Amino acid sequence: MQPSKRIRAIFDGGSDGWEILGKARARERAGAPVLNLTIGEHEDPTPPRFVEAMAEAARAGATRYSAFTGTPELRAAIAARAASRTGWPTRPEQVIVTAGGQAALLAAFLATLDPGDPIVFVDPYYATYPGTIRVVQGEPRPVPALPDAGFQPDLEAMAEACRGAKALMINSPHNPTGAVYTSETLEAVRRIVLENDLWLISDEVYDGMVWRGEHLSPRALPDMAERTIVIGSVSKSHAMTGFRLGWAVGPEEIVDLMGDYALNATYGLPGFIQQAGLFALTEGGEEEADLMATFRRRRDLAVARLSGRNGLKLAAPDGAMYVMLDIRGTGMSGEAFAEALLEAEDIAVMPGESFGDAAAGHLRVALTVPDETLGDALERIADFAEGRLAA
Ligand code: PLP
Repeated sequence: MQPSKRIRAIFDGGSDGWEILGKARARERAGAPVLNLTIGEHEDPTPPRFVEAMAEAARAGATRYSAFTGTPELRAAIAARAASRTGWPTRPEQVIVTAGGQAALLAAFLATLDPGDPIVFVDPYYATYPGTIRVVQGEPRPVPALPDAGFQPDLEAMAEACRGAKALMINSPHNPTGAVYTSETLEAVRRIVLENDLWLISDEVYDGMVWRGEHLSPRALPDMAERTIVIGSVSKSHAMTGFRLGWAVGPEEIVDLMGDYALNATYGLPGFIQQAGLFALTEGGEEEADLMATFRRRRDLAVARLSGRNGLKLAAPDGAMYVMLDIRGTGMSGEAFAEALLEAEDIAVMPGESFGDAAAGHLRVALTVPDETLGDALERIADFAEGRLAA
């Protein structure tokens, strides 16, 4: 007996990009004091009121099967948020609640792609994109967003790759680069999508984390709401990664079809998780604002600490919760640098190569630890890079 080709193809015999984390954890187990700046997860715990809302809901009996596309109240709260964040009126029927943004991505791919259908996305990319596309047997077609273009996508390459494709996926604010797509980029995306009659999947899980400029959703552009699926989540906005609560927002017909899948995949999220999410979205404004202020402060701190350093360059991110360090001056790959840094300094960062070819020679540092720890770590990374500058 053989496992299916489909499941074996998810990682295509290759890596999932997270080797450095495995190595960091092994060092930790061996007793080393590793500072982990790899994962996009807040070091601070989930705000206590959200945990309490969950516990209270469970105690009150929300432990039975729950509405599998999301409770009406939660769908209404997400619709209200989507209307304000994407700038487009949204009804609860246009929302499906999923197990994190990740499951929303999978549902969106399933709903739009048949096996063999090409989907275009931007490299560098959030590390799960290619694997998730392979789950549905889509054909991943990456197009570059290069450092010298401020990590805005190469629009000519995008137009070319979109010929004969079925869908285009973008992510702004962007993980890992922190790029926030300009209105010119989004206008071009719209033109390409309409010209090629594509679905647009717009991953906006970082929509509240914009440090410069403003978040624009392509869903609000003319003729786009009927072909755009927006992915959202409370993971980053409310420090609720482990609750696994996200959503997709799109045209009602496609959301209905995603519901058919949800019924057969998860049969919905736990009611107590949905109630905690409802509380966070409707009453948790203060906590969300605090979390966002923390990342803005750390982003500014990183920019200040690294300006004028020789060994690496920091392109000040406009959004999200990471900084990308350009270490090409050392002549090392991101992977080689990250491994050497872990061994020498016990600091774990993500090599740019984990996110695709376009981010080679870069490191992604998550802004997830307290300011002082972060500042010290950045200085040590810069010292390490300076010691390795190519002659
Ligand atoms: N999309 C992007 C761009 C991300 O960075 C992440 C998580 O890091 C996700 C989606 C998935 O987040 P979650 O499944 O926790 O909502």
